[in-house]
Amino acid sequence: MAETLKRILVTGGAGFLGSHLCDRLVAQGHGVICVDNFFTSQKHTIEHLLPKANFELIRHDVTHPLWLEVDEIYNLACPASPVHYQFNPIKTIKTSVLGAIHMLGLAKRVRAKVLQASTSEVYGDPDVHPQPESYRGNVNPIGVRACYDEGKRCAETLFFDYHRSNGVNIRVVRIFNTYGPRMHPYDGRVVSNFILQALAGEDLTLYGDGSQTRSFCYVDDLIEGLIRMMNGPDDFVGPVNLGNPEEFTIRQLAELVIELTGSASRIVYQPLPADDPMQRQPDVRLARERLGWRATTPLRDGLVRTVDYFRSLDLSRYRRPTQGEPRVATRG
Ligand code: NAD
Ligand code: UDP
Repeated sequence: MAETLKRILVTGGAGFLGSHLCDRLVAQGHGVICVDNFFTSQKHTIEHLLPKANFELIRHDVTHPLWLEVDEIYNLACPASPVHYQFNPIKTIKTSVLGAIHMLGLAKRVRAKVLQASTSEVYGDPDVHPQPESYRGNVNPIGVRACYDEGKRCAETLFFDYHRSNGVNIRVVRIFNTYGPRMHPYDGRVVSNFILQALAGEDLTLYGDGSQTRSFCYVDDLIEGLIRMMNGPDDFVGPVNLGNPEEFTIRQLAELVIELTGSASRIVYQPLPADDPMQRQPDVRLARERLGWRATTPLRDGLVRTVDYFRSLDLSRYRRPTQGEPRVATRG
């Protein structure tokens, strides 16, 4: 039976994850409203959707209120790459906190269901490994990543308070490092940096000694998880981890990118940015049990597709969102 068609708002809808989500929802026939201020994105990611009758684009900053009639809200608006979210940290925390307040207020007013794109960063530099949802984290509240980590933690608090106090129908997902086609070429996160460097024959900039770990999820898997969570039972509001539990050191990632691109690039070592988490791996049992979801794309396969994407990209169409550089620790 055909699914009921809904009016769905996607904030941050022109971003990397948001644009893939808009694609899926538009293809399902829903009326999709994409809201974005284009801080870390450009129109290119959604230009193919602009002619569609069931797609609308609004340039808007979620730190300001928004009045719309919708059935569902995916709240993704927030810069996600450390170099960009640290560029204007006060703006970053406003985006998370005021953005959450405005989307929750909207959801309350029009009785919409609202999903928050939270993050593995709520676990900080974790001393529990892998990280289950019950782990309360190890975040430095005054460090250079706090504008993002604490902003996202506060947004989770707001979601649960609106749920408990006002009965707002919420979903909270904690996304672990996700990569794939349509990452902004100047996004500054590790996968796009390494691939672009390898394709240009430049040195791969490995921060620290490369022994820190991340678990990389391919974008299509992640989007499936987001949609399942939104459509899941109302008694399962999260938080739920979404990620691929296959864990790699950043050095392994660099070596794999060099192999897959056939590049002659070398690896160069640069200082580790301040508060860079040493390990990250999602415990995904909850998502498997409650959503029947798991990531199925191995890193190698996802990287091949991502390399193909970046190979075909016309870089002259892209501007750098900021001139940000990673911030390294200034005191011990
Ligand atoms: P992205 O930077 O590509 O997309 C974020 C989008 O939000 C961009 O289009 C940007 O212009 C927009 N935006 C930023 N501030 C805004 C504001 N004030 N008002 C309106 N729009 C604004 O990042 P992404 O990887 O697509 O991440 C999307 C969401 O998922 C973010 O909330 C991020 O924190 C979360 N997340 C992503 C990952 C990941 O690995 N990709 C991991 C954890 C959490
Ligand atoms: N990193 C790196 N070189 C780069 C970019 C990132 O070695 O050019 C490292 C970074 O220090 C971190 C990991 O790769 O340990 C993942 O960084 P990213 O910015 O992608 O996301 P994070 O998980 O830190 O938010």
